[in-house]
Amino acid sequence: MKLLKEKIESEGIVLNENILKVDSFINHQMDPFLMKEIGKEFAKLFKGEHITKVLTIESSGIAPAIMTGLELEVPVIFARKRKSLTLTSDLYTAEVYSFTKQESSEITVSNKYMDAGDNVLIIDDFLANGQAAIGLAQLVRQAGGTVSGIGILIEKSFQPGAGEIRKQGYRLESLARIKSLADKQVQFADAKET
Ligand code: 5GP
Repeated sequence: MKLLKEKIESEGIVLNENILKVDSFINHQMDPFLMKEIGKEFAKLFKGEHITKVLTIESSGIAPAIMTGLELEVPVIFARKRKSLTLTSDLYTAEVYSFTKQESSEITVSNKYMDAGDNVLIIDDFLANGQAAIGLAQLVRQAGGTVSGIGILIEKSFQPGAGEIRKQGYRLESLARIKSLADKQVQFADAKET
């Protein structure tokens, strides 16, 4: 997606060869116009898939997910992260290891909001090792629902997540794909794409 790639080029900060900081438009301050366009783009990609819910994880997935839900005219659920492992019968739960925080947390969704009739589009801001997306897919499967696809804003294609998600058979759509963050430079995987 051209607009997202331009934003990454002009405002993204390469922290090191593994981490891109996008605090000025996604992770702290948010750009509502960009989020609206992202919502339209995901809605276009998944139009005709009969999506019934959009699922994301707090907090940075919420803005793009809500715009996608608005376009697709379906509810948006965000999974909650919590540290303690307390068994609760009315929750779907999965264990996720955080790439940026380097700690595990349990992610949960109430069984009130997702069931076997749901065809779910998963949205997240970044894809690194795929832990967050795969954990979200596990929640959908616990509900008996179907994962229609996974929509990512920024895929770091040099990390294992994209391959793992495809290996598990999920449709993956990433709006910007980065092939390298070496030498403090962002290199996109598909330089000419719009
Ligand atoms: P994964 O679960 O795929 O290993 O990592 C994805 C999660 O880690 C995303 O939800 C995102 O919050 C965070 N993340 C991974 N890589 C980056 C990065 O380069 N920059 C930022 N800002 N967040 C990242």
